[in-house]
Amino acid sequence: MHDESTNTRYDSVNALQQISAKIEKAASKSGRSYSDITLVAVSKTFDTPEILPILKMGQRVFGENRVQEAKAKWPTLQKAFLNIQLHLIGPLQSNKAAEAIQLFDVIETINREKIAMVLAQEAKKQDKRLKFYVQVNTGLEPQKSGITPQDTVAFVRRCQTFHHLDIEGLMCIPPADENPGLHFALLEKLGREAGLSKFSMGMSRDFETAIAFGATSIRVGSAIFGHRI
Ligand SMILES: *Cc1c(COP(=O)(O)O)cnc(C)c1O
Repeated sequence: MHDESTNTRYDSVNALQQISAKIEKAASKSGRSYSDITLVAVSKTFDTPEILPILKMGQRVFGENRVQEAKAKWPTLQKAFLNIQLHLIGPLQSNKAAEAIQLFDVIETINREKIAMVLAQEAKKQDKRLKFYVQVNTGLEPQKSGITPQDTVAFVRRCQTFHHLDIEGLMCIPPADENPGLHFALLEKLGREAGLSKFSMGMSRDFETAIAFGATSIRVGSAIFGHRI
C-alpha cells in the first residue's frame, strides 16, 4: 500500500499488472474476451512522475475529471507518447467545452441538453471527431449528475439526431452504499434500448462485477495509482 508518511514510491506497474490479470479472469468467467474491455486509468490528482511508469509500460487510455488539471499535465505527455486516449469522466461546464473538445478524445459525461448542444457546436468549430457517452444517474442521487433512467433513451436519440453527436455508449457511477450490480444491469438494459453497446461502468472496488454485467470500459484510479490524498 501507498505509504503516505514516508512517501515511498507506490508500485503502479505491479498494481496495473495485477489488475490486468483480474480483468482477464473476470472476462473469461463471463465468457468474454479481455480485448473487449478497455481499462481507463484514472490519473486525476496524480502528477506526471506518477503517470510515467505506466505510460512506459504501454498503458494509453487515461481518465481525468477536471479540464484544468488535465490541461496542465497532458499536452506534454501527448507529445512524448503516441496514441494516448484521454477520457473526460467528470462533469463539464459549458464555458470549458472548447478546451474539453481540444484536449479529450472521449467525453463520458454528457448529462444535459445544453452541454450536448455546446459540445456539438465546439466539435464542429474545431473540426474534431470525438466519441461521447451519456451519463445516467441510475441511483437518482441529487448530488450526482446524469440523465434519469426514464429519460435516457429519448435523450440519446436527441443527441444523435438533433445534435449529431457520436454517442458511443452510457456511463454511470452507482451509489456508494448500494449493490452496484443492479445499477450496471440497469445501464446495460437502457443502452440496449437505445441501440448502444458500450458501457463505461465499474471502478476500483467493483470493476469485476461491472465486467460480469457487460462493462466495455472500466475506470480504475486508486487501485492503480494508490490512495488519492
Ligand atoms: C475518480 C473516479 C473514478 C476512479 O475511482 P477509483 O475508486 O479510484 O477507481 C472512476 N470514475 C469516476 C467518474 C471518477 O471520478
